[in-house]
Amino acid sequence: MVIETKKSLSDFIESEKKEKKIIGLVPTMGALHDGHLSLIDFAYEFCDLVVVSVFVNPTQFNNPTDLDKYPRNLQKDEALLTTHNSKTVIFAPSAEEVYAGKIQSESYDFGSIVKFMEGEFRTGHFDGVGSVLKRLFDIVKPHKAFFGEKDFQQLMAVKKLVEITNQEVEIIGCPTSRNEFGLAQSSRNFRLNDDELKLAEIIHKALTKAKLMFEDSDFETIIAEIKTMFENEKKVELEYFSIASEADLTPTKIKDKNQKYRAFIAAFVGEVRLIDNMALNY
Ligand code: AMP
Repeated sequence: MVIETKKSLSDFIESEKKEKKIIGLVPTMGALHDGHLSLIDFAYEFCDLVVVSVFVNPTQFNNPTDLDKYPRNLQKDEALLTTHNSKTVIFAPSAEEVYAGKIQSESYDFGSIVKFMEGEFRTGHFDGVGSVLKRLFDIVKPHKAFFGEKDFQQLMAVKKLVEITNQEVEIIGCPTSRNEFGLAQSSRNFRLNDDELKLAEIIHKALTKAKLMFEDSDFETIIAEIKTMFENEKKVELEYFSIASEADLTPTKIKDKNQKYRAFIAAFVGEVRLIDNMALNY
């Protein structure tokens, strides 16, 4: 079932809540793939009804071409979700419906977690993410909302958003779903041809290498090694490779045995920008 207006959705959710159902929200930008389906399956382990929002949020794109070229196919998404789990409700509002006419972001004080990596290279991105999620939480009023670790910095920013805006929703992180070659599923992969899909595997290879090196190498050595890997593959352009602790998401070269570390990558394969990350020591 597809619902397009806030009013119809909140009426529906209210009636479901009267039946004591636990409501889960999986926010997406559509062009659904196995990664999204894994989030939905995860959500059904905790919830009676899952709402999947399909909304390409204009305020989180810093690059207009990226927004224009973002894959959209609501009919295909609906068919996929209906086959996968027919209980699932799709909320597919227009930008006017979500933003009530004024399509712009608020700004949020997320602290250090959005200063680097995606926050550094996509100016305004997390304010856009926060602005749309704040609205979606207000409309759906879910008990729980599910986000992929694939976008780890986003997951941390959403936890912070809920804290600073006093939302009553529990944020749950879900593992990254990958294809058989380790490439993280992503809607942007639909824009890659077969050669590019193969080239994109370097991202997971680099993260795996960083994880293997973690125990015996210092961060400078790991970072240099990964940069060399990308320099040797001219068709993929590394935007950043960073190691940061989960606590502050601030890139560091100093290893502290008591911290949980992740490696983060953004790279362009042709025109398509891909991101991924991996836990290094936990
Ligand atoms: P998107 O439609 O790309 O905005 O993603 C919607 C949600 O799905 C976000 O919480 C993403 O982190 C999550 N997601 C995207 N790709 C994957 C994946 N490969 N594995 C797990 N979650 C994912």
